[in-house]
Amino acid sequence: MTVMRPKHAPMTQFPVQNNCLHVGGISLVRLTQRVGKTPFYAYDRQLITERVHLLRHCLPEEIHLHYAMKANPMPAVVQHLAGLVDGMDVASVGEMKVALDTGIPPDRISFAGPGKNEHELACAIAAGIVISMESERELERITTLAEQMGICPTVAVRVNPDFELKSSGMKMGGEAKQFGIDVERVPAMLTRISKLGLDLEGLHIFCGSQNLKAGAIQDAHDKTLQLGLQLVQVSPIPIRTLNMGGGFGVPYFPGEKPLDLVAVGKNLQRLFSEIKPDLPGIRFVIELGRYIVAEAGIYVCRVLDKKLSKGRVFLVTDGGLHHHLAASGNFGQVIRKNYPVIVGNKVESSETEVASVVGPLCTPLDLLADQMELSKADIGDLIVVFQSGAYGLTASPTAFLSHPEPLEVLV
Ligand SMILES: *Cc1c(COP(=O)(O)O)cnc(C)c1O
Repeated sequence: MTVMRPKHAPMTQFPVQNNCLHVGGISLVRLTQRVGKTPFYAYDRQLITERVHLLRHCLPEEIHLHYAMKANPMPAVVQHLAGLVDGMDVASVGEMKVALDTGIPPDRISFAGPGKNEHELACAIAAGIVISMESERELERITTLAEQMGICPTVAVRVNPDFELKSSGMKMGGEAKQFGIDVERVPAMLTRISKLGLDLEGLHIFCGSQNLKAGAIQDAHDKTLQLGLQLVQVSPIPIRTLNMGGGFGVPYFPGEKPLDLVAVGKNLQRLFSEIKPDLPGIRFVIELGRYIVAEAGIYVCRVLDKKLSKGRVFLVTDGGLHHHLAASGNFGQVIRKNYPVIVGNKVESSETEVASVVGPLCTPLDLLADQMELSKADIGDLIVVFQSGAYGLTASPTAFLSHPEPLEVLV
């Protein structure tokens, strides 16, 4: 019996010509010359646009699509997306500035995250963005600040539901969590908001990230809409928006398959036809980070040295975990697995070898590919890590070992 080793999902989003990967219509070799130095991240604007169009096509028209900026806050990417999506979710004052700079209306920007400080809250109140409140104390803090500033703040209540998004890469609800307000305390919170006379935008229910199972997402959507309905019925003030979260995943590791977006969309369509009469005039939001940008980005580094140690080949590159923590397996992964990696200027080579791609840092954790079958590479060749458009550069410890920061380009 032959054992089939699981493979990476095919990475067909970037075309290959003359054996070289192309990004935004430019060969990787030429793009590298244009950027001027390695390592760098490249994001393909056309792929980002196509992904938003795919979402629009598959999800019901009632869905307002928001971009969760922390997945990739590069200003050019955010500006590009501002013209495509219906709103942005920010997680800091820094992200808020980038979002506001795009010209997107403030009432389409929401600010979530535990532990917002007074400076952040004051800036958000002044900007007029929707503050997604993560605790009762935050509500009181906002009220005091808003009174001092003479501004009526717009708020939403982030709910920690009593269900979870099953099989998520990262759980963000359904158990004891630092996010949101436990569901049983939400009615009292809504009453308090009503008494204080704040402008309530609505509810925010986000329970997980990096999910590839349509069934699990469908289940979470069922429960989210049910919960939304219950809370709308008990709320003493109108709910304008129900932010249903997101959590759509992309395939990173061998054996993982792309999410069945059509199935997710069909289920939402069915749910809306059942539930919409009970939730008239409500704006439904799905907020996505990773799903919109991850597959449109690559990380590129160059082979500096090629070594043999006890029969194993090591490609030593100028890139590593300081730029791409997730690809090294150190961004929350329990078991290290390889991201899809290729030699970008020798995509389809007849000569392959099993090699490990490592970085320049003085730690064995600095590993971008562990014993992968790659085209036979030499000094100067370009290593490409796919699925790098989300949680790449800004999710990495760039100061570790004090190497220069990599560049980012939107092509
Ligand atoms: C991080 C985050 C997101 C984005 O999650 P993805 O998995 O990248 O889609 C959305 N909403 C909130 C509140 C978040 O914290």
